[in-house]
Amino acid sequence: MPIDATQPYDPDNIFAKILRGEIPNDTVFEDEHVLAFRDINPQAPVHVLVIPKGEYVSWDDFAAKAPDVEIAHFVRKVGEIARDLDLVEPGYRLLANIGGHGHQEVPHLHVHLFGGKPLGPMLARG
Ligand code: 5GP
Repeated sequence: MPIDATQPYDPDNIFAKILRGEIPNDTVFEDEHVLAFRDINPQAPVHVLVIPKGEYVSWDDFAAKAPDVEIAHFVRKVGEIARDLDLVEPGYRLLANIGGHGHQEVPHLHVHLFGGKPLGPMLARG
């Protein structure tokens, strides 16, 4: 079920539990501010979720509340992770789902990183 991204941060969401080590994950990268791990239900040969460690529900929440250094760090790390996964030359896709129309299911900001095959058009029509 898509979530209402205007709600306050829920500290019991699944990615908060992953960050606390309560649920295992297949980590691709981790540092002080960022965790990247493989999606449990991959939709491409490479499907990685990149999340800030801070408590942000959505992109706009992150943009409004995060310090500039965290935002710059997050943006840089998403790019570095794509490069480290050898996705730059073949190409890849970034996606952030937000709220109901965006079909966001987990209320902790995450960027999907897809790659490893031609990914087709941007959105299904209809
Ligand atoms: P959203 O629809 O919110 O953009 O995507 C949430 C993503 O989180 C989905 O692709 C889903 O497969 C993934 N996901 C949900 N629960 C877990 C989990 O416990 N572990 C991992 N690695 N991914 C999860």
